[in-house]
Amino acid sequence: AKWSQCGLPVSILNVIKSMNYEKPTSIQAQSLPAIMSGRDIIGVAKTGSGKTIAFLLPMFRHLKDQKPLQPTDGPIALIMTPTRELATQTFQECKPFLKILGLRAVCAYGGAPIKDQIADFKRGAEIVVCTPGRMIDILAANSGRVTNLRRVTYIVLDEADRMFDLGFEPQVMRIVNNVRPDRQTVLFSATFPKAMEALARKILRKPVEIVV
Ligand code: AMP
Repeated sequence: AKWSQCGLPVSILNVIKSMNYEKPTSIQAQSLPAIMSGRDIIGVAKTGSGKTIAFLLPMFRHLKDQKPLQPTDGPIALIMTPTRELATQTFQECKPFLKILGLRAVCAYGGAPIKDQIADFKRGAEIVVCTPGRMIDILAANSGRVTNLRRVTYIVLDEADRMFDLGFEPQVMRIVNNVRPDRQTVLFSATFPKAMEALARKILRKPVEIVV
């Protein structure tokens, strides 16, 4: 497969070219068209497969043509990850795209001062990369005036199996249940045991399953 066959806008293709990613990986080639068709996705893929780019590129395409944010608007895309390390890494992978596409991202995880993260949210961002517990805290902060989920239409659950192994299911459900039902939801997991499948059924709508 070639990047030019993936249905991505030129502005996004140009960033990929500058990153020297020669061609899409298998998970990318399979999930890009499925995600860009608007379907919910379950991607069973391990770290190293290129799964991050697989959910980031459709997200950027989704965000590219949206109206500019008002100061009180919350994010449009919400990426949930199990750990601070993964949140940071994913946030870093967003960076080359942000300036060129005129988008902003914030990163929110536990174990760091919430004050600085709240200030980031208040400046406004279309994209949030977070761990679920800290996101709940930020939604509750300042009587709920820091940010909100009203505008969220694209959700990613990355390393979902690890997120549930670490006990974040209640937090994830609480967040997801407060996002509009006509959202698109993308779930990536290294493994896909029965318990995960049951959970995925609760969160996703008629998902397309992609296994690499
Ligand atoms: P991930 O599975 O998302 O953790 O990605 C693993 C690594 O592969 C990251 O360091 C990416 O920068 C890199 N990567 C992602 N997509 C490609 C690609 N199409 N070609 C080469 N490297 C890639």
